[in-house]
Amino acid sequence: MQTEIQRRAYLRAMGIDVWIPRDQADPDCHAQETEDAVVELDWDGLQAAVSGCTRCPLHQSRTQTVFGVGSPEADWMIIGEAPGAEEDRRGEPFVGRAGKLLDEMLRAIGEGRESVFIANVLKCRPPNNRDPSADESAACRSHLVRQIELVQPKIILAVGRIAAHLLLDTDEPVGRMRGKVHQLGETPLIVTYHPAYLLRSPSQKCKSWDDLCLARRVVSGEPS
Ligand code: URA
Repeated sequence: MQTEIQRRAYLRAMGIDVWIPRDQADPDCHAQETEDAVVELDWDGLQAAVSGCTRCPLHQSRTQTVFGVGSPEADWMIIGEAPGAEEDRRGEPFVGRAGKLLDEMLRAIGEGRESVFIANVLKCRPPNNRDPSADESAACRSHLVRQIELVQPKIILAVGRIAAHLLLDTDEPVGRMRGKVHQLGETPLIVTYHPAYLLRSPSQKCKSWDDLCLARRVVSGEPS
């Protein structure tokens, strides 16, 4: 059954003002309320909450939010950093040059955009493609966490430093995190290089291939 908090979050996400009688309003619970509400959202509710999100200043400069693409029932969840200019324009993650390489990497393991789920740490584009700030990542975190809870992937592939650092709460270099199976709660997580880095350093592609093969072994339950 829908809770009152969830109902209010839906309405807010749809841009409808929610009026609460003064005697029922808790003065410092708005932030907590939106966090709590995300925990209970279903897929459609989460999409609506993301597209109406105003939790951080990036909502002022975005063209649109970039929720993610693929199957909400995917075994593989690919998590990148944040939308760039092209993604902001099209509303889909990884559609630029790095995205084309990601598509090729997925094809090489027999997957595609429609069979996996691709998301980013941030759902809005940071201006000039700068790194996400700690506040922006924190504001967006519950959206990503809820996406992971709803998809229940068999493997998470964190592509690049920003996603790996946020998900694993570390600042280790990608080179030291890759090549092993980490855990995000119950979900195995593998770190690999960001495709934009691979475009600049193609000699590292073979390491990403090794990471994909490791991830594939985890998904199929083979010894890793
Ligand atoms: N880089 C990312 O990390 N995500 C995108 O969606 C595009 C480029």
